[in-house]
Amino acid sequence: MWLGALAVLAVGLIGDATAQERSKPKLILQITVDQLRGDLLARYYDRLGDGGFRYLLNAGTVYSNAHHQHANTETIVGHTTIATGAEPSVHGMVANVWLDRLSGELTYNVEDARYPVLGEGAGVDRKTEIDPTQMTARSDGRSPSRILVSTFSDELTLSQGGISKVFGVSVKDRAAIPMAGHTGKAFWFSKKSGEFITSSFYYDQYPEWVADWNAEKPADKYAGTSWNLLHDQSTYLFGMADDRPYETALPGYGRTFPHPFGSRDGAFFTTLLTISPVGDELTLDFAKALIMNESLGRDDKTDYLSVSFSSTDYVGHLFGPSSLESEDNILRLDRTLAELLSFVDTQVGLDKTLIVLTADHGGPEAPGYLRELGFEADYIYPKTWDKAGAIEKLKKRFGIGGNLITTYFHPYLYLNREVIAEKGLDQAEVENAVVDELNRFHGVALALSSSALNSGKVPDTPLVQSILRNYNPSRSGDIYVVFEPNRFINEFDGLTVAVGHGSPWGYDSYVPIIFAGFGIRAQRINRIVHTVDIAPTLSLIVGAKPPTGSSGAPLNEVIR
Ligand SMILES: [Zn+2]
Repeated sequence: MWLGALAVLAVGLIGDATAQERSKPKLILQITVDQLRGDLLARYYDRLGDGGFRYLLNAGTVYSNAHHQHANTETIVGHTTIATGAEPSVHGMVANVWLDRLSGELTYNVEDARYPVLGEGAGVDRKTEIDPTQMTARSDGRSPSRILVSTFSDELTLSQGGISKVFGVSVKDRAAIPMAGHTGKAFWFSKKSGEFITSSFYYDQYPEWVADWNAEKPADKYAGTSWNLLHDQSTYLFGMADDRPYETALPGYGRTFPHPFGSRDGAFFTTLLTISPVGDELTLDFAKALIMNESLGRDDKTDYLSVSFSSTDYVGHLFGPSSLESEDNILRLDRTLAELLSFVDTQVGLDKTLIVLTADHGGPEAPGYLRELGFEADYIYPKTWDKAGAIEKLKKRFGIGGNLITTYFHPYLYLNREVIAEKGLDQAEVENAVVDELNRFHGVALALSSSALNSGKVPDTPLVQSILRNYNPSRSGDIYVVFEPNRFINEFDGLTVAVGHGSPWGYDSYVPIIFAGFGIRAQRINRIVHTVDIAPTLSLIVGAKPPTGSSGAPLNEVIR
């Protein structure tokens, strides 16, 4: 009797295993939209076309309450969390920029001088770069070497005997590199050359198809053109609100439609392309060339392609998420996405492609917009804080003559540990004294010292937990600063912008998570889930082990 049951069980097990074997996707297409807050797709649902976001929302498993659960909601932090299923405390990418205690210099997350970018004239143009994090990089070398754990894409490669096609593509290096992991290949856009580039970490020379794509100079085709509205202005939710005083008016680009890109030799020509839907259109075109030329999804192995769309972030920073520009950008991204999905359908088949879409972070509303609606909201200018008195008081108390603070690169403040040690002072006591002063400044919701985090004697609140998840002892600063909701720094290397994300608050942590294609069920899940859950879910689907530092839980609704 029990033998029969065992036989049935065995047949069942073998049956399941074979079904599982057969049901591995040919391609995993991981799409990340920079600064796509969790509510935006629902807001524009009625305005979306077919085959893009609407397809994902209608045919996929949609998590409507997904959040990052780390404090510093910046691009590298979010992307690496999505890629690894680990918190920043574990994966090590605690900020876009941190102070390297050994060299005493600010460090750009994916910089690695050992691996220069390939090609003359590529990389970062310091004369025209407006991204303040890029400006901290001292070389054009790039690699994933500072990511301390494996990514899902790494685990996919390891699970297939070291053979797999793994690629990450984005306008931003810090969005392409973490997704490709340590074993894949990454390409990103150089505003200096207008080309998609890579570094010697990945290749000795460009694959022929990349050289050919760049030789066509696709970015140059936009010279002399403008970003125009996709539809009649009166049909937009923000159709009556194009010209808002808090939007950024870049010289020549302005804050109303049309936004002209200017001539090819304009110093900011390629930068302007990235602050428009064109950045994503170029990314799409490059991704299509990659899918074709690398024959993704054509054999028994599971291939992986990450496409990270950056324009939503740049447009959000300059105009705010509730602007005509952001609305049009999302409608145009919807068309770009539809084209990508339709292309993948013809090349691989959406039934054989597992699609997952999320965002590296959300974003706040522009304070000027919130004030119109009755909120108290404002920008924070730490440079103008009246801090001389507080610093004098601290120096006097501790008998310090030189600098007490080495640097403050939000969200971390770094104390002068050398002088603290020289004077034989107690690091924790000094940190706590600085925290007391910081907490007095206008707009500071919470300043929390690393020694308090280490002591374990911190209140168990969601805010403190998010800072703890962001805390890596060798990279985090001595004090973490959180501003009150709807208050943030808006200076972008001298440029004043409408919106800056990076807080632990809901508007910055809230993102969409959607799984679709590959027979994924159409359903809406409203329970809270986290971005660390994505990587272990993907691992389970392809039969790989979870990434090294993963602390997320597989999302049962998408595992068949
Ligand atoms: Zn951003």
